[in-house]
Amino acid sequence: MKVCKFGGSSLANAAQLNKVIDIVLADPARRIVVVSAPGKRHSGDTKVTDLLIDLANTALAGENTDRQFGAVVERYAEMADTLKLGGEIVRRIEMDLMDRLAQVATLAPDEFLDLLKAAGEDNNAKLVAEAFVARGKKARYASPKETGMTLTGRFGDAQLDPASYATLARAFSNFEGIVIYPGFFGYTKEGKVATFPRGGSDITGSILAAAVCADVYENFTDVDSVYPVDPRIVSEVREGIPTMTYREMRELAYAGFGVFNDDAVIPAVRARIPINIRNTNHPSEPGTMIVQSRRVVPGTVVGIAAAEGFCNIVVDKYLMNREIGFGRRLLAILEDEGIAYEHMPSGVDSQCVIVKSQALPKEKERRVVQHIQRELKPDSVSIDRDLSLLMVVGEGMCYTAGMFAKACLALASAGINISMVNQGSSEVSFMIAIRVKDRDAAVRALYKAFFG
Ligand code: ASP
Repeated sequence: MKVCKFGGSSLANAAQLNKVIDIVLADPARRIVVVSAPGKRHSGDTKVTDLLIDLANTALAGENTDRQFGAVVERYAEMADTLKLGGEIVRRIEMDLMDRLAQVATLAPDEFLDLLKAAGEDNNAKLVAEAFVARGKKARYASPKETGMTLTGRFGDAQLDPASYATLARAFSNFEGIVIYPGFFGYTKEGKVATFPRGGSDITGSILAAAVCADVYENFTDVDSVYPVDPRIVSEVREGIPTMTYREMRELAYAGFGVFNDDAVIPAVRARIPINIRNTNHPSEPGTMIVQSRRVVPGTVVGIAAAEGFCNIVVDKYLMNREIGFGRRLLAILEDEGIAYEHMPSGVDSQCVIVKSQALPKEKERRVVQHIQRELKPDSVSIDRDLSLLMVVGEGMCYTAGMFAKACLALASAGINISMVNQGSSEVSFMIAIRVKDRDAAVRALYKAFFG
């Protein structure tokens, strides 16, 4: 069995929805279909989820909601009209939205916001199920409530209650035909609607794939595959990545690969379900498979990424290496200040701590430096801002001599200075810090060296 998830751009209008139906019907294994709310139809358009947030905020402010209400209904009505589904489904969607809006007086603002946000996928799943039925197929809408998708944590940032896996598995074992399931939300133990973070339909798909032990989790989006480098930086990149491992995906996602969200796929990764990223607009393309392990060609790289927004806390102290507990006390200071650290490369008498710039905003900088000076009495402490981390990733780099040398030579030839390097013992990736201004030139140089 395959679980397929279709994102907002795959469901933005009737033409896209017809492509989705064709894709699902092309393979009888595609039995569970997770849908997002309708997304943007063109670049200047607004996603239905954003229209719903606007509607919720207008209602919370006690203002007239007619315009926002009409804008949401219009998106569904346009699809229902084009697909000739009849007026009934649109009336049901209107009633549903009115019911939700009426709860503004009884719910806390964050609960109300989630109730409205969830309406995007919930109503879309109902409409998509109708569209399948209109094409004479056995399909039904299934709700997160009846199947037991129980969430905990904060509204707008909820997480799955792990006990749900068993409940979901039981519920799905009773279904026949194609099941259309809304992404992005579930219910708290108290029966309130709660949503995952934005983009959360990916999480729903991943959870269902794990719950039913799917053969594959197909995530349909609007790119042919995951590319080894950002095509906005290297426009000539043509070949996508056919297969990569979960570890490679995680490393690339960490460094800003935008196609997938590594948090979202955790349930599928833990259950070792292969993930297939595919394009709704080019369904014949095989896309990118993400799996537990793969055959590798020694000396090859799978992708090159560059992440921004890092800074380096550099602490120098003569004879630091002889001072027992120096590193622990430095990290304890960061813990006290509520700063998560990312990497910690060191020299003989210097210790660097790379942190996300947002974890160490300018206003906090002075206090943190003074705290380090007070407790560790270093010779100097400085903060180096505006760093970009280049990541060269590939299981094939393991035990191969010269990979790092190749990267350094490429950067040196492009006149790019390296601020810091780091490689974990897994050898699945290495990291090079450079100045943000050099990012694009560095990515191009590395791409040419490893893929050119
Ligand atoms: N519709 C939600 C959003 O725009 C969830 C999703 O599409 O995955 O964030």
